[in-house]
Amino acid sequence: MTDCLFCKMVNGDIPPDKVYEDDEVLAFNDINPQAPVHVLIIPKKHIATLNDAEDSDTQVLGQLNQVAAKLAKDGGYADDGYRVVMNCNTAGGQAVYHIHLHLLAGRQMSWPPG
Ligand code: 5GP
Ligand code: ZN
Repeated sequence: MTDCLFCKMVNGDIPPDKVYEDDEVLAFNDINPQAPVHVLIIPKKHIATLNDAEDSDTQVLGQLNQVAAKLAKDGGYADDGYRVVMNCNTAGGQAVYHIHLHLLAGRQMSWPPG
């Protein structure tokens, strides 16, 4: 999608601060980190919100979580713990309408979130 910020990162128009890439998934550091580790993990395919995911997207939705666990293990904070979050639409706090999994780590997370 041409006017989507995260699609521009996928196609290279805007170079991301990349931490992981495979055929289906891209992960990069958040520009406004909310924790010492704050990575955004996205499908390369444009899916606007979780509500828009189709049955054929089930595999890539799982891959987002698998990449989060891999990054946590590789980064040495998997045992300490981390949080993964996907916001959906306005009340969920979604600001960028290309789905992304937030991977947050490096500090104690509070619950419930604000
Ligand atoms: P949302 O609120 O949609 O769940 O999260 C959007 C995230 O994208 C926010 O954490 C925000 O800091 C991040 N973000 C917004 N613009 C950019 C950008 O240009 N580059 C990067 N790396 N992250 C961005
Ligand atoms: Zn997009």
